[in-house]
Amino acid sequence: MAYVITQPCIGTKDASCVDVCPVDCIHPGPGEEGFEESNQLFINPDECIDCGACEPACPVTAIFEESAVPVEWKSFIKLNADHFA
Ligand code: SF4
Ligand code: SF4
Repeated sequence: MAYVITQPCIGTKDASCVDVCPVDCIHPGPGEEGFEESNQLFINPDECIDCGACEPACPVTAIFEESAVPVEWKSFIKLNADHFA
């Protein structure tokens, strides 16, 4: 399992989550290649340790534990994983 970034990140993308992630698995962060072009940020499911630190840090409630992703945003589970494929 992993945490997943969903729809509300689009248009916000403030990177608050990047600052609190202990394993640096949220990309592309500010200053990284692709940050300007990307609609949103993504969590690498292979590196996420499920600590949950990013969830309350998000000002728009875009981050959910995988099993708790709202049904209308389930497609974001694959979107996050595909970003790192
Ligand atoms: S749950 Fe923890 S490890 Fe996973 S993305 Fe969030 S802050 Fe990083
Ligand atoms: S804190 Fe929320 S809105 Fe900001 S970049 Fe992370 S997921 Fe996107």
